[in-house]
Amino acid sequence: MSTEASRLDLAELERPALEAVLDARGHQRFHAGQIFRWLYLRGVSDPAAMTDLSREFRAELARTFTFSTPEVVQREKSIDGTEKFLLRLGDGRTIESVFIPDTPSMTFCISTQVGCAMACAFCLTGKMGLVRNLTAGEIVGQVRVLVDALAMRGTRFNIVLMGMGEPLHNYAETMKALRILADPNGFAMSPRRITLSTVGLLPALEKLAREPVMPNLAISLHAPTDEQRGELVPLNRKHGVAEIIDACKRFPLKRRNRITFEYVMLAGVNDRPEDARRLARLLAGVKSKVNLIPLNAAAGIPFERPSDEAVDRFAKILADHHLTVSVRKSRGRDIRAACGQLIVEGQKKSAAQQLAVIM
Ligand code: SAH
Repeated sequence: MSTEASRLDLAELERPALEAVLDARGHQRFHAGQIFRWLYLRGVSDPAAMTDLSREFRAELARTFTFSTPEVVQREKSIDGTEKFLLRLGDGRTIESVFIPDTPSMTFCISTQVGCAMACAFCLTGKMGLVRNLTAGEIVGQVRVLVDALAMRGTRFNIVLMGMGEPLHNYAETMKALRILADPNGFAMSPRRITLSTVGLLPALEKLAREPVMPNLAISLHAPTDEQRGELVPLNRKHGVAEIIDACKRFPLKRRNRITFEYVMLAGVNDRPEDARRLARLLAGVKSKVNLIPLNAAAGIPFERPSDEAVDRFAKILADHHLTVSVRKSRGRDIRAACGQLIVEGQKKSAAQQLAVIM
Protein backbone atom coordinates (compact mmCIF):
# COMPACT_ATOMS: atom_id res chain seq x y z
CA MET A 1 0.00 0.00 0.00
CA SER A 2 1.22 3.48 -0.77
CA THR A 3 0.13 6.71 0.73
CA GLU A 4 -0.42 9.72 -1.49
CA ALA A 5 2.87 11.22 -0.34
CA SER A 6 4.97 8.19 -1.18
CA ARG A 7 3.55 7.76 -4.65
CA LEU A 8 5.92 8.75 -7.43
CA ASP A 9 4.83 11.57 -9.71
CA LEU A 10 5.06 10.46 -13.34
CA ALA A 11 5.18 14.12 -14.39
CA GLU A 12 8.62 14.43 -12.79
CA LEU A 13 10.15 11.36 -14.45
CA GLU A 14 12.16 11.37 -17.64
CA ARG A 15 11.71 8.20 -19.64
CA PRO A 16 15.05 6.64 -18.59
CA ALA A 17 14.14 7.29 -14.95
CA LEU A 18 10.74 5.67 -15.43
CA GLU A 19 12.44 2.70 -17.10
CA ALA A 20 14.69 2.32 -14.06
CA VAL A 21 11.75 2.48 -11.65
CA LEU A 22 9.79 -0.11 -13.65
CA ASP A 23 12.84 -2.34 -13.91
CA ALA A 24 13.39 -2.16 -10.15
CA ARG A 25 9.79 -3.25 -9.65
CA GLY A 26 10.20 -6.25 -11.93
CA HIS A 27 8.59 -4.84 -15.08
CA GLN A 28 9.89 -4.55 -18.62
CA ARG A 29 11.62 -1.25 -19.40
CA PHE A 30 9.80 -0.78 -22.71
CA HIS A 31 6.56 -0.09 -20.84
CA ALA A 32 8.00 3.35 -20.07
CA GLY A 33 7.71 4.24 -23.76
CA GLN A 34 4.10 3.01 -23.84
CA ILE A 35 3.25 5.05 -20.77
CA PHE A 36 4.93 8.14 -22.25
CA ARG A 37 2.89 7.79 -25.41
CA TRP A 38 -0.33 7.71 -23.38
CA LEU A 39 0.63 10.63 -21.18
CA TYR A 40 2.13 13.01 -23.72
CA LEU A 41 1.21 11.90 -27.21
CA ARG A 42 -2.40 10.97 -26.56
CA GLY A 43 -3.04 13.06 -23.44
CA VAL A 44 -4.42 10.13 -21.45
CA SER A 45 -3.43 10.24 -17.79
CA ASP A 46 -5.72 7.64 -16.26
CA PRO A 47 -3.81 4.33 -16.17
CA ALA A 48 -7.13 2.45 -16.45
CA ALA A 49 -7.41 3.74 -20.04
CA MET A 50 -3.93 2.56 -21.09
CA THR A 51 -5.28 -0.42 -22.97
CA ASP A 52 -2.01 -1.82 -24.29
CA LEU A 53 -0.95 -2.62 -20.71
CA SER A 54 -2.19 -5.59 -18.74
CA ARG A 55 -5.00 -5.07 -16.25
CA GLU A 56 -2.78 -5.90 -13.28
CA PHE A 57 -0.06 -3.54 -14.44
CA ARG A 58 -2.61 -0.73 -14.94
CA ALA A 59 -3.95 -1.29 -11.44
CA GLU A 60 -0.43 -1.19 -10.04
CA LEU A 61 0.30 2.06 -11.90
CA ALA A 62 -2.85 3.64 -10.48
CA ARG A 63 -1.86 2.51 -6.98
CA THR A 64 1.77 3.55 -7.03
CA PHE A 65 1.97 6.66 -9.23
CA THR A 66 0.35 10.06 -9.45
CA PHE A 67 0.45 12.41 -12.42
CA SER A 68 0.32 16.06 -11.40
CA THR A 69 -1.23 18.57 -13.76
CA PRO A 70 -1.47 22.33 -13.21
CA GLU A 71 -5.06 23.49 -12.90
CA VAL A 72 -6.47 26.24 -15.12
CA VAL A 73 -7.97 28.84 -12.79
CA GLN A 74 -8.46 31.61 -15.31
CA ARG A 75 -8.35 32.07 -19.05
CA GLU A 76 -8.35 35.45 -20.76
CA LYS A 77 -8.51 36.01 -24.48
CA SER A 78 -7.16 39.13 -26.15
CA ILE A 79 -8.83 40.76 -29.13
CA ASP A 80 -5.77 39.67 -31.16
CA GLY A 81 -6.31 35.97 -30.30
CA THR A 82 -3.58 35.76 -27.66
CA GLU A 83 -4.73 33.83 -24.63
CA LYS A 84 -3.36 34.07 -21.11
CA PHE A 85 -3.74 31.14 -18.72
CA LEU A 86 -3.48 31.45 -14.97
CA LEU A 87 -2.45 28.03 -13.65
CA ARG A 88 -2.46 26.78 -10.09
CA LEU A 89 0.31 24.41 -9.02
CA GLY A 90 0.20 21.63 -6.44
CA ASP A 91 1.24 23.95 -3.59
CA GLY A 92 -1.33 26.61 -4.49
CA ARG A 93 1.17 28.96 -6.14
CA THR A 94 0.11 30.36 -9.47
CA ILE A 95 1.91 31.05 -12.74
CA GLU A 96 0.98 32.36 -16.15
CA SER A 97 1.39 30.79 -19.58
CA VAL A 98 0.47 32.46 -22.84
CA PHE A 99 -0.75 31.11 -26.18
CA ILE A 100 0.15 33.28 -29.15
CA PRO A 101 -1.53 32.21 -32.40
CA ASP A 102 -0.12 32.52 -35.93
CA THR A 103 3.20 34.33 -35.49
CA PRO A 104 3.25 32.69 -38.16
CA SER A 105 3.14 29.44 -36.21
CA MET A 106 1.44 28.67 -32.92
CA THR A 107 3.57 29.58 -29.94
CA PHE A 108 3.35 28.73 -26.25
CA CYS A 109 5.11 31.17 -23.93
CA ILE A 110 6.00 29.13 -20.85
CA SER A 111 7.21 30.04 -17.35
CA THR A 112 10.20 28.46 -15.60
CA GLN A 113 9.88 30.05 -12.15
CA VAL A 114 7.22 31.54 -9.90
CA GLY A 115 8.40 35.14 -10.07
CA CYS A 116 11.97 36.00 -11.02
CA ALA A 117 15.12 37.07 -9.20
CA MET A 118 16.61 39.10 -12.05
CA ALA A 119 14.77 42.34 -11.20
CA CYS A 120 15.12 43.94 -14.63
CA ALA A 121 14.09 47.58 -14.27
CA PHE A 122 11.28 47.48 -16.86
CA CYS A 123 9.77 44.05 -16.13
CA LEU A 124 6.71 43.50 -13.95
CA THR A 125 7.57 39.86 -13.19
CA GLY A 126 10.88 41.13 -11.81
CA LYS A 127 8.95 43.17 -9.25
CA MET A 128 7.64 39.95 -7.70
CA GLY A 129 11.06 38.67 -6.79
CA LEU A 130 11.69 34.95 -6.91
CA VAL A 131 9.10 32.85 -5.10
CA ARG A 132 10.38 29.44 -6.21
CA ASN A 133 11.65 27.37 -9.11
CA LEU A 134 9.25 25.28 -11.14
CA THR A 135 9.86 21.55 -11.39
CA ALA A 136 10.36 19.93 -14.79
CA GLY A 137 6.88 18.43 -14.46
CA GLU A 138 5.40 21.87 -13.87
CA ILE A 139 7.22 23.31 -16.88
CA VAL A 140 6.08 20.48 -19.17
CA GLY A 141 2.68 20.56 -17.44
CA GLN A 142 2.02 24.02 -18.88
CA VAL A 143 2.48 22.60 -22.37
CA ARG A 144 0.18 19.65 -21.61
CA VAL A 145 -2.51 21.94 -20.22
CA LEU A 146 -2.36 24.36 -23.15
CA VAL A 147 -2.46 21.55 -25.74
CA ASP A 148 -5.62 20.20 -24.09
CA ALA A 149 -7.31 23.52 -23.38
CA LEU A 150 -6.74 24.72 -26.94
CA ALA A 151 -7.57 21.33 -28.53
CA MET A 152 -4.16 21.33 -30.20
CA ARG A 153 -3.20 17.69 -29.94
CA GLY A 154 -1.45 16.77 -33.17
CA THR A 155 -0.95 20.44 -34.10
CA ARG A 156 2.56 21.78 -34.40
CA PHE A 157 3.62 24.52 -32.06
CA ASN A 158 6.71 26.38 -30.89
CA ILE A 159 7.73 26.96 -27.32
CA VAL A 160 9.44 30.07 -26.02
CA LEU A 161 10.77 30.06 -22.47
CA MET A 162 9.87 33.72 -22.15
CA GLY A 163 7.19 33.59 -19.50
CA MET A 164 7.85 34.23 -15.84
CA GLY A 165 11.34 33.46 -14.61
CA GLU A 166 14.92 33.13 -15.78
CA PRO A 167 15.35 29.64 -17.26
CA LEU A 168 19.10 29.48 -16.67
CA HIS A 169 18.52 30.33 -13.01
CA ASN A 170 16.52 27.10 -12.81
CA TYR A 171 18.95 25.16 -14.95
CA ALA A 172 18.53 21.50 -14.02
CA GLU A 173 14.71 21.45 -14.07
CA THR A 174 14.57 23.46 -17.30
CA MET A 175 16.93 21.05 -19.07
CA LYS A 176 15.01 18.07 -17.75
CA ALA A 177 11.80 19.62 -19.07
CA LEU A 178 13.39 20.06 -22.49
CA ARG A 179 14.43 16.39 -22.53
CA ILE A 180 10.87 15.30 -21.66
CA LEU A 181 9.45 17.59 -24.39
CA ALA A 182 11.94 16.23 -26.94
CA ASP A 183 11.39 12.57 -26.04
CA PRO A 184 10.36 10.71 -29.20
CA ASN A 185 7.67 8.89 -27.20
CA GLY A 186 6.33 12.15 -25.80
CA PHE A 187 5.72 15.43 -27.61
CA ALA A 188 8.75 14.58 -29.77
CA MET A 189 9.50 18.28 -30.06
CA SER A 190 12.40 19.28 -32.22
CA PRO A 191 14.73 21.49 -30.15
CA ARG A 192 14.61 23.85 -33.12
CA ARG A 193 11.03 24.64 -32.15
CA ILE A 194 12.06 25.66 -28.64
CA THR A 195 13.68 28.99 -27.76
CA LEU A 196 15.30 29.67 -24.42
CA SER A 197 15.54 33.34 -23.49
CA THR A 198 18.06 34.50 -20.90
CA VAL A 199 19.55 37.66 -19.45
CA GLY A 200 22.92 35.94 -19.91
CA LEU A 201 23.57 33.96 -16.78
CA LEU A 202 27.14 32.70 -17.04
CA PRO A 203 28.44 30.04 -16.56
CA ALA A 204 25.04 28.37 -17.14
CA LEU A 205 25.19 29.66 -20.71
CA GLU A 206 28.50 27.85 -21.23
CA LYS A 207 26.94 24.68 -19.84
CA LEU A 208 23.97 25.02 -22.19
CA ALA A 209 26.39 24.86 -25.11
CA ARG A 210 27.12 21.23 -24.19
CA GLU A 211 23.54 19.99 -23.73
CA PRO A 212 22.19 17.09 -25.78
CA VAL A 213 18.85 18.84 -26.32
CA MET A 214 19.88 22.31 -27.34
CA PRO A 215 17.18 24.93 -27.87
CA ASN A 216 17.50 28.11 -29.90
CA LEU A 217 19.05 30.88 -27.88
CA ALA A 218 17.71 34.37 -27.26
CA ILE A 219 19.70 36.88 -25.21
CA SER A 220 17.89 39.72 -23.49
CA LEU A 221 20.52 42.35 -24.22
CA HIS A 222 18.61 45.67 -24.10
CA ALA A 223 21.66 47.93 -24.22
CA PRO A 224 25.07 47.99 -25.93
CA THR A 225 27.20 49.29 -23.05
CA ASP A 226 27.78 48.11 -19.48
CA GLU A 227 26.90 51.54 -18.20
CA GLN A 228 23.41 51.42 -19.74
CA ARG A 229 22.80 47.72 -19.28
CA GLY A 230 23.86 47.76 -15.64
CA GLU A 231 20.99 50.15 -14.94
CA LEU A 232 18.43 47.92 -16.66
CA VAL A 233 19.62 44.39 -15.91
CA PRO A 234 21.20 44.15 -12.43
CA LEU A 235 22.94 40.88 -13.36
CA ASN A 236 25.05 42.86 -15.83
CA ARG A 237 27.13 44.14 -12.91
CA LYS A 238 28.32 40.56 -12.52
CA HIS A 239 28.45 39.40 -16.14
CA GLY A 240 29.07 42.33 -18.45
CA VAL A 241 28.22 42.86 -22.10
CA ALA A 242 31.66 41.84 -23.44
CA GLU A 243 31.60 38.60 -21.45
CA ILE A 244 28.13 37.70 -22.75
CA ILE A 245 29.00 38.50 -26.36
CA ASP A 246 32.15 36.40 -26.03
CA ALA A 247 30.10 33.45 -24.78
CA CYS A 248 27.70 33.96 -27.71
CA LYS A 249 30.57 33.89 -30.19
CA ARG A 250 31.67 30.56 -28.74
CA PHE A 251 28.16 29.13 -28.65
CA PRO A 252 27.86 26.20 -31.07
CA LEU A 253 25.26 27.04 -33.70
CA LYS A 254 23.97 24.73 -36.34
CA ARG A 255 24.33 25.93 -39.91
CA ARG A 256 22.14 28.93 -40.70
CA ASN A 257 21.11 29.19 -37.06
CA ARG A 258 21.49 32.51 -35.28
CA ILE A 259 21.25 33.91 -31.79
CA THR A 260 18.36 36.29 -31.23
CA PHE A 261 19.18 39.46 -29.32
CA GLU A 262 16.13 40.93 -27.64
CA TYR A 263 16.20 44.65 -27.13
CA VAL A 264 13.40 46.28 -25.14
CA MET A 265 13.25 49.86 -26.36
CA LEU A 266 12.85 52.57 -23.74
CA ALA A 267 12.23 56.16 -24.84
CA GLY A 268 15.26 58.37 -24.31
CA VAL A 269 17.21 55.58 -22.57
CA ASN A 270 18.46 53.14 -25.21
CA ASP A 271 16.63 54.17 -28.39
CA ARG A 272 18.97 56.84 -29.74
CA PRO A 273 20.81 56.57 -33.07
CA GLU A 274 24.15 56.27 -31.27
CA ASP A 275 22.78 53.31 -29.30
CA ALA A 276 21.87 51.63 -32.58
CA ARG A 277 25.34 52.25 -34.00
CA ARG A 278 27.01 50.90 -30.85
CA LEU A 279 24.75 47.84 -30.96
CA ALA A 280 25.67 47.24 -34.59
CA ARG A 281 29.37 47.42 -33.76
CA LEU A 282 28.91 45.08 -30.80
CA LEU A 283 27.13 42.45 -32.88
CA ALA A 284 29.47 42.60 -35.88
CA GLY A 285 30.84 39.09 -36.26
CA VAL A 286 28.09 37.44 -34.19
CA LYS A 287 25.60 35.24 -36.03
CA SER A 288 22.68 37.27 -34.80
CA LYS A 289 19.26 38.64 -35.43
CA VAL A 290 17.91 41.53 -33.43
CA ASN A 291 14.38 41.58 -32.08
CA LEU A 292 13.32 45.08 -31.08
CA ILE A 293 10.59 45.10 -28.44
CA PRO A 294 9.02 48.52 -27.88
CA LEU A 295 8.35 48.72 -24.14
CA ASN A 296 5.00 47.52 -22.90
CA ALA A 297 4.39 50.27 -20.40
CA ALA A 298 2.69 49.57 -17.07
CA ALA A 299 2.02 51.31 -13.81
CA GLY A 300 5.11 51.03 -11.64
CA ILE A 301 7.48 50.81 -14.61
CA PRO A 302 9.48 54.07 -14.74
CA PHE A 303 10.01 54.10 -18.52
CA GLU A 304 8.11 55.05 -21.63
CA ARG A 305 7.54 53.39 -24.94
CA PRO A 306 9.38 55.12 -27.81
CA SER A 307 7.52 56.55 -30.77
CA ASP A 308 7.10 54.36 -33.85
CA GLU A 309 9.43 56.77 -35.66
CA ALA A 310 12.19 56.20 -33.10
CA VAL A 311 11.75 52.43 -33.43
CA ASP A 312 11.85 52.63 -37.24
CA ARG A 313 14.91 54.88 -37.22
CA PHE A 314 16.71 52.48 -34.84
CA ALA A 315 15.78 49.46 -36.96
CA LYS A 316 16.98 51.17 -40.12
CA ILE A 317 20.40 51.96 -38.67
CA LEU A 318 20.82 48.28 -37.71
CA ALA A 319 19.68 47.15 -41.14
CA ASP A 320 22.11 49.61 -42.79
CA HIS A 321 24.84 47.84 -40.80
CA HIS A 322 23.75 44.50 -42.33
CA LEU A 323 21.99 43.18 -39.25
CA THR A 324 18.73 41.24 -39.49
CA VAL A 325 16.11 43.14 -37.51
CA SER A 326 12.52 42.49 -36.56
CA VAL A 327 10.19 44.56 -34.43
CA ARG A 328 8.09 42.49 -32.07
CA LYS A 329 4.44 43.16 -32.42
CA SER A 330 2.96 43.49 -29.00
CA ARG A 331 0.39 40.78 -28.43
CA GLY A 332 -2.24 40.50 -25.77
CA ARG A 333 -1.60 43.89 -24.21
CA ASP A 334 -5.29 44.33 -23.38
CA ILE A 335 -5.10 41.28 -21.08
CA ARG A 336 -1.62 42.02 -19.70
CA ALA A 337 -0.20 38.99 -21.48
CA ALA A 338 2.47 40.95 -23.34
CA CYS A 339 6.22 40.64 -22.70
CA GLY A 340 7.20 41.57 -19.18
CA GLN A 341 3.60 41.91 -18.07
CA LEU A 342 3.20 38.52 -16.46
CA ILE A 343 2.71 39.00 -12.77
CA VAL A 344 0.69 37.14 -10.23
CA GLU A 345 -0.44 39.28 -7.38
CA GLY A 346 -0.76 38.36 -3.75
CA GLN A 347 1.77 35.54 -3.44
CA LYS A 348 3.24 35.50 0.01
CA LYS A 349 6.95 34.98 0.25
CA SER A 350 8.80 33.48 3.17
CA ALA A 351 11.83 35.30 4.54
CA ALA A 352 14.05 32.63 3.01
CA GLN A 353 12.50 33.18 -0.38
CA GLN A 354 12.98 36.91 -0.05
CA LEU A 355 16.65 36.19 0.56
CA ALA A 356 16.91 33.99 -2.49
CA VAL A 357 18.66 36.58 -4.59
CA ILE A 358 21.30 35.58 -7.03
CA MET A 359 24.07 38.06 -6.44
N1 SAH B 1 14.37 35.95 -17.96
C1 SAH B 1 14.42 35.63 -19.35
C2 SAH B 1 13.11 35.06 -19.82
C3 SAH B 1 11.93 36.03 -19.76
S1 SAH B 1 11.74 36.63 -21.34
C4 SAH B 1 14.84 36.83 -20.13
O1 SAH B 1 14.88 37.92 -19.57
O2 SAH B 1 15.21 36.70 -21.29
C5 SAH B 1 10.87 38.04 -21.17
C6 SAH B 1 11.16 38.96 -22.35
O3 SAH B 1 10.29 40.09 -22.24
C7 SAH B 1 12.58 39.50 -22.26
O4 SAH B 1 13.16 39.74 -23.49
C8 SAH B 1 12.30 40.79 -21.52
O5 SAH B 1 13.35 41.65 -21.63
C9 SAH B 1 11.03 41.25 -22.16
N2 SAH B 1 10.32 42.24 -21.35
C10 SAH B 1 10.30 42.33 -20.01
N3 SAH B 1 9.58 43.38 -19.62
C11 SAH B 1 9.11 43.98 -20.73
C12 SAH B 1 8.28 45.10 -20.96
N4 SAH B 1 7.78 45.83 -19.97
N5 SAH B 1 8.01 45.42 -22.24
C13 SAH B 1 8.50 44.68 -23.25
N6 SAH B 1 9.26 43.60 -23.09
C14 SAH B 1 9.58 43.25 -21.84
